[in-house]
Amino acid sequence: MKNRKQVIDHIANQKFDVCVIGGGASGSACALESQLRGLNTVMLEAGDFASGSSTASTKLAHGGVRYLQEAVDDLDIHQYQLVESALRERAQMLHNAPHLTRMVEFVVPCFSHFDKFYYGLGMKMYDWISGKAGLFPSRLLTREEALYRMPPMQSNNLAGAVSYADGQFDDGRYCLALVDTFDGAGGAALNYARVTVLEKTPEGKIVAAVVTDQVSNRTFRIVARAFVNATGPFSDEMRNLASAGAGSRMRPSKGVHIMFPLGDFSENDALLVPRTEDGRVIFAVPWNGRLLVGTTDTGYTPGEEMVVKREEIDYLLRQLNPYLSSPLRPDEVVSGFAGVRPLVAAQGVTETKKLIRDDEVEYDAKSGLVSILGGKWTTHRLMGQETIDKVQESIGDEITPSPTTDHPLSGAVDYQRGYWQTLTTQFKVPAATAKHLAHKYGTLAPDVLRLADSDPSLTLPLLEGEAPIRAQVVYAVRKEMALTVEDVLARRIGLQLYGWRLAAQAAPAVAELLRQELGWTEEGELAAVEQYVAKVNHILTTAGLEPVAVATGLVAGRR
Ligand SMILES: Cc1cc2nc3c(=O)[nH]c(=O)nc-3n(C[C@H](O)[C@H](O)[C@H](O)COP(=O)(O)OP(=O)(O)OC[C@H]3O[C@@H](n4cnc5c(N)ncnc54)[C@H](O)[C@@H]3O)c2cc1C
Repeated sequence: MKNRKQVIDHIANQKFDVCVIGGGASGSACALESQLRGLNTVMLEAGDFASGSSTASTKLAHGGVRYLQEAVDDLDIHQYQLVESALRERAQMLHNAPHLTRMVEFVVPCFSHFDKFYYGLGMKMYDWISGKAGLFPSRLLTREEALYRMPPMQSNNLAGAVSYADGQFDDGRYCLALVDTFDGAGGAALNYARVTVLEKTPEGKIVAAVVTDQVSNRTFRIVARAFVNATGPFSDEMRNLASAGAGSRMRPSKGVHIMFPLGDFSENDALLVPRTEDGRVIFAVPWNGRLLVGTTDTGYTPGEEMVVKREEIDYLLRQLNPYLSSPLRPDEVVSGFAGVRPLVAAQGVTETKKLIRDDEVEYDAKSGLVSILGGKWTTHRLMGQETIDKVQESIGDEITPSPTTDHPLSGAVDYQRGYWQTLTTQFKVPAATAKHLAHKYGTLAPDVLRLADSDPSLTLPLLEGEAPIRAQVVYAVRKEMALTVEDVLARRIGLQLYGWRLAAQAAPAVAELLRQELGWTEEGELAAVEQYVAKVNHILTTAGLEPVAVATGLVAGRR
């Protein structure tokens, strides 16, 4: 990826074919689709890439077994089609970025033979709808097989289980890979760049976006033939900026996930809790050495802080623990995250879990704004395709075929399972670090490791005993536009997801490298550490956990 200064110099006050607003899954997918179709494209993100809903997902590339259940229960053909297209896209997601995705087998516990029949039949339908895009067929498991696969599962009255396969992916890195691929194709992406004004002709047609660089406070204009609103849960703001009185289409809802040490759970098998007290499903999924449990579905109040609350932890454990032989405790939570679902209102429906998670491409003929509303991560590519079809139509261009179906993302070219072994042989790094790098960067991992040619200390771990290394911070700044401690720990390296406390402990080392790379003062470095640790402590205490006492002292100690 180009660096921020290069991008700002290249885009400020320039003319583009397409300007995409929003740099999450939807915006990145639209930008890549547009650039690969030959349209000169710029993408602007108000915060960091993927810092919105796109790193708050359950990280499943799936058709959605719950939607399948609704399709059957409500005899709803639309839900069925939604599952079908998502299953096709699931296969594409796995194919286009194998280093960032994998297949996981889900075990659905059954406490009666009727359950086994009911879920077994449902999963056969899931197999059938997948067709050629299927991963592998669902199976009925005996009680013994179920307990062998899922040792922590409650065994009293267990009749057996049904297992089925779905996809899992690294959402933060997948978004960065989309952005990097877009950049590699000649596109211009800029983070910390907020669109504040849409300039219009007297007839109301948008001609330019006024952008504020959140770092320098500099303001510039982007002129474009078409503007895409990909601002996720906040799409209504941009719609109303384009046409006052556009009203509201979004019905955002909050979802929370929590992480535990993996314990006796297997690294490959997930548990699906088929019925929660509010009629939903929740997952307990192995995720990079942790157990990811989620999610909640509650109302979202505009401006609400996206943190995990103690009552949300209690809710998730109340649903999961009856399915476990020994209950998980709130004080075992090591990290978590909260996000907003960008749901589009469907007529006559008020419950958020029943709002259709479909996407809608909305074209405002007066302003020319094309908004991509709703959707889910799994269908991001298709959403990009549909949006750019509409863009081409709206500017009177011929609609060209989608080039993204089989387009490998950054790091995917020549990637094969077991690629990490090449890194241990070639660069003599420990297996845990090699696996971590292979899964985060794919075949770009050697670029990270070669940074240590000029400074061997960059191969040292960021935290003793953990896989991430110092070179990743330098790479994050030079090649991935990271600007803050959180950009690095939450979205580039993923340590914040692995453990809040571990992330706080790594903050001084990260900030020191950021100071060297970004030319901060020592005071700036200290402030960055203090700010990050204060944020982590706020998150910990909101979750009802003990705050961490680290970090800032270490910076002081170095001086
Ligand atoms: C709890 C939860 C669980 C989920 N689980 C799954 C799952 O397992 N599988 C799945 O497929 N999907 C899942 N999803 C859905 C998926 O995460 C979202 O559909 C997807 O991430 C939405 O991406 P987006 O780009 O539309 O929105 P966002 O990621 O929120 O991106 C919108 C971006 O627009 C930016 N923006 C806003 N205003 C401006 C402005 N004025 N100028 C510039 N930029 C601006 C924001 O900063 C933000 O980064 C889940 C969602 C949630 C919340």
